[in-house]
Amino acid sequence: RFLPDKDQLRVAVIGFGYVGSCIAATLADRGFDVVGVDTDPRLVDELARGHCRFAEEGLAELIFRGLADGHLRVTTDIAEAGSADVVLISVGTPVREDGSLAEEQLRGACRALSEHLRPGQLIVLKSTVPPGTTRGIVLPLLEESGLSGGVDFGLAFTPERLAEGTALRELRTFPIVAGGLGADSEAAAEAFWQRALGVEVIPRDSLEAAEIVKLASNWWIDLNIALANELAKFCALYGVDVLDVISAANTIPKGAGNVNILLPSVGVGGSCLTKDPWMVWRSADRLGLQIRTAPAGREVNAGMPEYTAQLAVDELVRQGKNPTGSKVAVLGLAFKNDTGDLRATPTVGAVKTLAKAGLTVSVYDPLVDADAAEELFGIRPSATLEEAVRDADCLAILALHRDFHDLDFAALPVAENCLVLDGRAYYPKEKIAELRAAGYVYRGIGRGDAI
Ligand code: NAD
Repeated sequence: RFLPDKDQLRVAVIGFGYVGSCIAATLADRGFDVVGVDTDPRLVDELARGHCRFAEEGLAELIFRGLADGHLRVTTDIAEAGSADVVLISVGTPVREDGSLAEEQLRGACRALSEHLRPGQLIVLKSTVPPGTTRGIVLPLLEESGLSGGVDFGLAFTPERLAEGTALRELRTFPIVAGGLGADSEAAAEAFWQRALGVEVIPRDSLEAAEIVKLASNWWIDLNIALANELAKFCALYGVDVLDVISAANTIPKGAGNVNILLPSVGVGGSCLTKDPWMVWRSADRLGLQIRTAPAGREVNAGMPEYTAQLAVDELVRQGKNPTGSKVAVLGLAFKNDTGDLRATPTVGAVKTLAKAGLTVSVYDPLVDADAAEELFGIRPSATLEEAVRDADCLAILALHRDFHDLDFAALPVAENCLVLDGRAYYPKEKIAELRAAGYVYRGIGRGDAI
């Protein structure tokens, strides 16, 4: 009912950010007629000048191919969404200090869209939101058009579950969860995603169920990483390598599938895991339920940048080096491997701790925007890896991008007995032996002294 039976569907994607650009470019690549709408004129200008601000493998190529062959257009004009068959909303949904949703982007998008809404359109919210948001905020704003949700237009919530760094692959393979405002909206969303991406669609009974699915995933991931981080600290007490423990613990299937313990790291960042557990906490709190696990996970993970940096400081002191006057080169500034995203990156806390201990800090990351990094870290990133690591007493690897996979450690112009602080590289024992043979000292989160 809300999906026309025609050969070429027209799709509008409102919010051409990290998520919106990945979805829009993928749909354009699959032959849909796609328009991306964003309120940021700089983003549209940059694309017109051939620059893509998102460092996601394959994304720039996909966007520029779509723009060149005409399947994709990007504009600031929301009126363009009026002629779309399906409108996807992927604007940002940050939380305020108290964990409540900062609704401005969502309200702005819905209000603007309502002025161009047409009967028969299917509107799908992709942004992560607290339960009740699609029904309580999106629906009434769209109905300001005079049209009725579930009757004149379809409304569904299908959360985006991709992870940065592997987004394009995940978009084409991960099942999509769909909840609708009534059966017709749900069926239209299901049919659209099956046609759009050819992936499995998992229907849920309500908008709220689908909204909670997304929050449950990120609540679980954050908590699981918190467990891995505390496990790493626990293993360190016994000189045990946490990776040996995790790989063995993960060999027994529990429950419905493999309940895998994730990996410890310098911390959790990005725009999702740092906020979504707070959405859970706040939504529950408003209704009188005290959720304890979400804040606990957040607290553990928020302490990791300092803990990780302190490992380096302690090791330098153990080596008899004075942190003041020693140099650390931080490699990888983004919040995780293979992305240039600096939002809520835990590397900031690590760099601050290192600088506070008196170390001279140089930073290098080939994927991040140098100006944005300079503003955030107060340090201009080195132009080359060699420049960053020259005479360094410590290499702190805080994001192991693909570019760092084949680092020739033996050839780097570092100081003698240079420390490798492994904040996210998870080097196996053989690699650690190689590092030692090349004159390095190795320390990793929870890797113990035993290795
Ligand atoms: P983002 O900040 O990169 O993108 C949001 C975009 O929306 C921006 O370009 C902004 O200019 C635009 N925008 C804001 N108000 C607008 C309006 N009224 N009309 C049109 N455009 C508007 O955010 P993102 O990382 O792409 O995340 C989007 C949503 O997806 C969030 O809810 C996030 O939680 C969720 N999500 C993100 C990821 C991820 O890995 N980044 C993964 C899954 C889900």
